[in-house]
Amino acid sequence: MQYRVNPKNGDRISALGLGCMRFPGYELGRPSQRAAEEIISRAVERGVNYLDTAYLYPGNEACVGEALQKLGLRDRVLLATKLPHASCKRPGDFDRFFEEQLKRLKTDRVDYYLIHNVTSPAQWERLCRLGIEDWIRRQKTAGRIRQIGFSFHGNAGDFPVLLDAFSWDFCQIQYNYANERYQAGTAGLLAAAERGLAVFVMEPLLGGRLAGRLPNAAKRVLQDAADARLRTPADWALAWVWNHPQVTMLLSGMGSPAEVDANAALADDAVPGSLSAEQLAAISRVVGIFQAANRVPCTGCGYCMPCPRGVPIPSAFAAYNASYAHGWMTGLQQYFTASAVRTAEPRLVSNCTKCGKCKRHCPQGIDIPACLDDVRHRFQPGPVDWVLTRMARS
Ligand code: SF4
Ligand code: SF4
Repeated sequence: MQYRVNPKNGDRISALGLGCMRFPGYELGRPSQRAAEEIISRAVERGVNYLDTAYLYPGNEACVGEALQKLGLRDRVLLATKLPHASCKRPGDFDRFFEEQLKRLKTDRVDYYLIHNVTSPAQWERLCRLGIEDWIRRQKTAGRIRQIGFSFHGNAGDFPVLLDAFSWDFCQIQYNYANERYQAGTAGLLAAAERGLAVFVMEPLLGGRLAGRLPNAAKRVLQDAADARLRTPADWALAWVWNHPQVTMLLSGMGSPAEVDANAALADDAVPGSLSAEQLAAISRVVGIFQAANRVPCTGCGYCMPCPRGVPIPSAFAAYNASYAHGWMTGLQQYFTASAVRTAEPRLVSNCTKCGKCKRHCPQGIDIPACLDDVRHRFQPGPVDWVLTRMARS
């Protein structure tokens, strides 16, 4: 495992961090405890020392807390979690959430605490009016928060404004070879590093779309350029992020010990600047193919769900993108499966009433109702739409 140093406090952080959000086996609103323990245990064994969870990941903090206590690993990892800032309506809410988080995590401190998904300076200003700056300082002085940062899904222009709005220790941004000019992007990465912040990267695989769901033509480019280290599309995407010296750590939502092994093996050689000019050129070709096929930038996070009309939003967008990446028929089959078209209650995109509830929650800023119209035109043209819509109503 390669380690990179947090310029703010000298912590040695594994280049590969464990994103806990995608632990498998959800039952009764909580991931499988056994599966989570196997994954955490293997990750620490392989040198991973950073674990990321959040208040808003259902059952996740409690699962991570229980696993760390049971495995006796709390003092061997840097533990990160996040404040659900939109739910903070009065000054006492910061304490209320934080105390609950410490209890769930079975710990007396959070090593890396993030304001979760800040998308605009106005959101931060609202928190400042509730006194969050003093609250953070008090927690840091008491040693209950070691490092403070924010995760970001806003636009490129707002990112430097937020960087300068507080004395942050670190930030967490979406970054991958398909998003160099999206959200914080490369300019944001450089701006954060110039200010001496540790930069943590999320979505290095763009919700899997740079791994198994990459267009076939792009996969062929990577296969032709493959070597002993870079064998799969996921390998290429992770290596591209690590190639940047400004990146302190990347988070991967590993769902099994086997995935931990694969990513950890790659992280053993995660040295900045190690990709050759030919390898970078291959990735540039992949970017061109990917952008042509990727019509809706949905990562499948599910924050927009549930839809009151039952529209399977992320699956509908996945099918739509697949129809450009892998052919119309493939996308249509996916759409019919996702929308349960052969059942008594099909969940078609035409069920959407444009209430706008989903749109408010999308960290990618997607105009969901408008994009669902595009899905409808692609998969429910003319007479097909007429028949399916009536099936859904009957
Ligand atoms: S706008 Fe459409 S898809 Fe979004 S929540 Fe409302 S009904 Fe569902
Ligand atoms: S539409 Fe937005 S909120 Fe919904 S799954 Fe996709 S990226 Fe996430």
